[in-house]
Amino acid sequence: MSFPDLVEAHGLDRIGLRGRLTANQPVGPVTWFRVGGPAQLLFQPADTEDLALFLRHLPAGVPVLPIGLGSNLLVRDGGLPGVVIRLGAKGFGGVAVEGETRIRVGAAVPDKRVAEAAAEAGLGGFAFYAGIPGGVGGALRMNAGAHGSETRDTMVELTAVTRAGEIVRLTREDMGYRYRHSEVAADTIFTEAVFEGTPSERETIRAEMAAVVEHREKAQPIREKTGGSTFKNPPENSAWKLVDAAGCRGLQIGGARMSDMHCNFMINTGEASAEDLERLGETVRARVLEASGIALEWEIKRLGLLPEGVEIAPFLGRNDKETAVHG
Ligand SMILES: Cc1cc2nc3c(=O)[nH]c(=O)nc-3n(C[C@H](O)[C@H](O)[C@H](O)COP(=O)(O)OP(=O)(O)OC[C@H]3O[C@@H](n4cnc5c(N)ncnc54)[C@H](O)[C@@H]3O)c2cc1C
Repeated sequence: MSFPDLVEAHGLDRIGLRGRLTANQPVGPVTWFRVGGPAQLLFQPADTEDLALFLRHLPAGVPVLPIGLGSNLLVRDGGLPGVVIRLGAKGFGGVAVEGETRIRVGAAVPDKRVAEAAAEAGLGGFAFYAGIPGGVGGALRMNAGAHGSETRDTMVELTAVTRAGEIVRLTREDMGYRYRHSEVAADTIFTEAVFEGTPSERETIRAEMAAVVEHREKAQPIREKTGGSTFKNPPENSAWKLVDAAGCRGLQIGGARMSDMHCNFMINTGEASAEDLERLGETVRARVLEASGIALEWEIKRLGLLPEGVEIAPFLGRNDKETAVHG
């Protein structure tokens, strides 16, 4: 499948951009699940000003979506209409310690690198990032967290570019943070952030980071094609316990399976389509609802279009459930 060319239609090659425009670019390969259709247009800006210039020229009706390292994304098989923005290490990969306690990082910096830089500077509060496979942009959007810490705990302010192409500064209060959620418009792109740590012994931080990594190795299928936790933990409950109690550990549809190791992780066993994965997720939600009365919410972001003629209703009905098997 391919989408009509946006570059030609809107003269985007004639406005002096320094970044890279690629029409009908496959996005699946940069996501952890390795599934999904192309982006109508991929833009990789050279820096924040280049991104702002692009967005000022792009007609308001064209959808815009930032992606990071793709560790929390399920891109649907019908692809992503509009523009996908991906920030590269060249313009957005800076890491700088400022003063005694602050660290400024570009949105393309992997979380793991933030943890390492903070440890090097003797700043505590970032060890949990050693176990999260995303980048700073995704962490800011998702309020990524683990082991009792979250992005909002240390984030002080960030730079962002709005859909209209305005460069703005946002503070933690502006972010409307909740558990794995920010209220900021989904087409606002974060380009850089400042975090505040707590002075701490380097050895203590490194030990914490090692414990985080060791825990992941034992408890999560981190070498699989996965998107991390599929569903958010409901208040006072654990999504994995509900999935397990509903009999969905190891449940499989096509090439999509609920991990046997950590049953709130969906995995692409090799040949899954995005449709298999989404259908499996909705089947699990239906079974959990039936077993416990609790409606799980997706944590994974499902983006883009279903292929023509395909429908996946939320909380799939009985007939759909019959396609699921335990392998
Ligand atoms: C094995 C595994 C373990 C995981 N463990 C955890 C965990 O312990 N805790 C946790 O919180 N998450 C976890 N995750 C999920 C994921 O790593 C986090 O949500 C991460 O923050 C996503 O970052 P990303 O760069 O991959 O973003 P993506 O997956 O690419 O995008 C996620 C969201 O962020 C938005 N986004 C990305 N970049 C930007 C930007 N520059 N500006 C604005 N919005 C942006 C996207 O539009 C999308 O809505 C895990 C995932 C995997 C695969």
